[in-house]
Amino acid sequence: MDRSKICWVSWDNICQPKDKGGLDIKNLESFNDSLLCKWKWRCLNDLSASWFNLLHFRYGSFAANFLYGEGRESLKHASIWWRDMWKTGGAEEGGWFVNNISSILGDGNNIAFWKEQWLGMEPLCELYPSLFQKSTHKDACISNMGIWNNNMWSWKLNWMEALDDADIESLNELHQLLEQVRPNIASSDRRRWSSNSDGSFSVRSTYMVLQDKRVGTTLDTNTVTALKRLWKNNVPSKVSVFGWRLLLEKLPTREALFCKGIITNNHERSCVFCFKEVEDIQHIFFTCCITSQIWQKIFVWLGTNVIPFEDVTSHFTLFGELAKGNHSKQIRHIIWLATTWSIWRTRNNIIFR
Ligand SMILES: [Zn+2]
Repeated sequence: MDRSKICWVSWDNICQPKDKGGLDIKNLESFNDSLLCKWKWRCLNDLSASWFNLLHFRYGSFAANFLYGEGRESLKHASIWWRDMWKTGGAEEGGWFVNNISSILGDGNNIAFWKEQWLGMEPLCELYPSLFQKSTHKDACISNMGIWNNNMWSWKLNWMEALDDADIESLNELHQLLEQVRPNIASSDRRRWSSNSDGSFSVRSTYMVLQDKRVGTTLDTNTVTALKRLWKNNVPSKVSVFGWRLLLEKLPTREALFCKGIITNNHERSCVFCFKEVEDIQHIFFTCCITSQIWQKIFVWLGTNVIPFEDVTSHFTLFGELAKGNHSKQIRHIIWLATTWSIWRTRNNIIFR
């Protein structure tokens, strides 16, 4: 098996921001979905765009497609771009696109009374399904569900058949909700993208929503703190990435390779420095009779007490804590990285050369 192909840290974790233990590498799938969402958002809100009428003619109401999940039956004749856009954040993906939108009532000309979420936490068709079934105006926008009379707004709901007792009870409840709101002819309906504090849409906020959904392993606070310190050091990126793998304990030691079934011979698990013990991260870097002597010499050189090994992250953190002042702490962390990097390089030279 080709060792370079083994996934030591999952891709979802690698694409997380650095403060969450990742390398902040762009996840192209999430980024692509965010760009498609930008188009969805523009279709819903950019009513004066030159392409608006053309697309509207071809695919019908954008709100129906993207907010109420209609239009599935015509997908097979649609372009790949439209199909991808239609599916992104739709019902099959937990409806995260719609869930991030709230509709704000203005003149009521663009928000569908029954189907869009504008009053409360869910659309009225889901809150009152029986009333919705009996309504004569299932697709009507809010401004068509009432009339203005001398500046007074009255709601007018019409039914295809007689309402039963349960319906009348629901209708009373609905009227109580509606009494609190009315259209405002002086302003247009708006939509807010709730992931952005100012309500505007951005690819970045969408990408963050998607990355949050992809969170892999949650790291403990000690590791998160150690990683934050790691990234502050001005060392070559290959050393930082090595340090990141070491702190996450994701280096391909012989024991790790044995556990993954890549080496099967028992004696291949041994440490190449002492040939006495199994080579895992704790042994090769800290407790091996050879490497522990290196640390002893470093502690003598720095004039501090030896830090007993507990785990990798606390060794790294404590090593920095021995110094006073942020600059000295940073130098200590660089010494720590240089030491572990040299140990790993020497070990690799023995194995591969
Ligand atoms: Zn050893």
